[in-house]
Amino acid sequence: MQKLLAEKTCVVTGGSRGIGLAIVRAFASEGGKVFYLSRSPAEDQAALAAAAAEGGGSATWISCDVGSEASVEAALAAVIAAGGTPEVLVNNAGITRDGLIFRMKLEDWEAVMATNLTSAFLVCRSAARHMIKARRGSIINITSIVGITGNGGQANYSASKAGLIGFTKSLAREVASRNVRVNALAPGFIDTSMTEKLGADAKQALIGTIPLGRTGNPEDVAKAALFLASDLASYVTGEVLKVDGGMAM
Ligand code: NAP
Repeated sequence: MQKLLAEKTCVVTGGSRGIGLAIVRAFASEGGKVFYLSRSPAEDQAALAAAAAEGGGSATWISCDVGSEASVEAALAAVIAAGGTPEVLVNNAGITRDGLIFRMKLEDWEAVMATNLTSAFLVCRSAARHMIKARRGSIINITSIVGITGNGGQANYSASKAGLIGFTKSLAREVASRNVRVNALAPGFIDTSMTEKLGADAKQALIGTIPLGRTGNPEDVAKAALFLASDLASYVTGEVLKVDGGMAM
């Protein structure tokens, strides 16, 4: 059977660990030629390359700081030189700088906006014009349920993720006539280095608020990304798909 992303050039920002790494693996296992953009490579690049090859795809690291315009432009040029026009783009890179608003430093606000929101604008601006020309593409922005519900102590993060939702719907309207789809994924609580700071008690209390009774893993999100990236979602655009075990329904 034909693989879902056979021969497709895919770009994943923040693919060095966590959710992004699971997406890189899932796409490569479906035949995708995946380029992942982050400041450091995956911990075990050799194992990643071997797993990717086994699935008929590849996984190539390109050094990039997604908050920097020059770095994004250089990274996209490198992708196009090596793999041609990207057909799939996942804006996944993200950070937190939590704190109550009256104590939040401007630099914590700005760092989160640059990495989580401005990055998506920069990468899409660079990649979308090639997708429009090719008249095909799928863009997936990784937002969060707190971009929908808000969260005390995360005003900067929630605002960046809410911004991504507005950005997703606006871009979806701009490029739909060129057969480019743009969707967002909104994970709930996923076990990664981003969430490991939370203590065991707080985590247990959180699990009590999740109808499916467990936290998510990066592969749960990667499966939904694979759906949106592939032709299985050929008539889906401008959508925000929650992957949260029912937490925010
Ligand atoms: P993570 O384990 O901390 O991974 C974050 C990734 O982003 C890393 O690959 C990191 O690579 C990359 N990154 C950070 N700053 C970057 C920059 N300036 N330039 C390029 N890459 C950068 O986090 P995660 O939990 O997998 O989160 C992935 C995405 O899912 C984020 O957008 C996050 O907001 C979202 N999300 C996560 C959860 C959750 O519960 N974990 C829930 C909802 C949404 P380098 O450090 O090597 O650059």
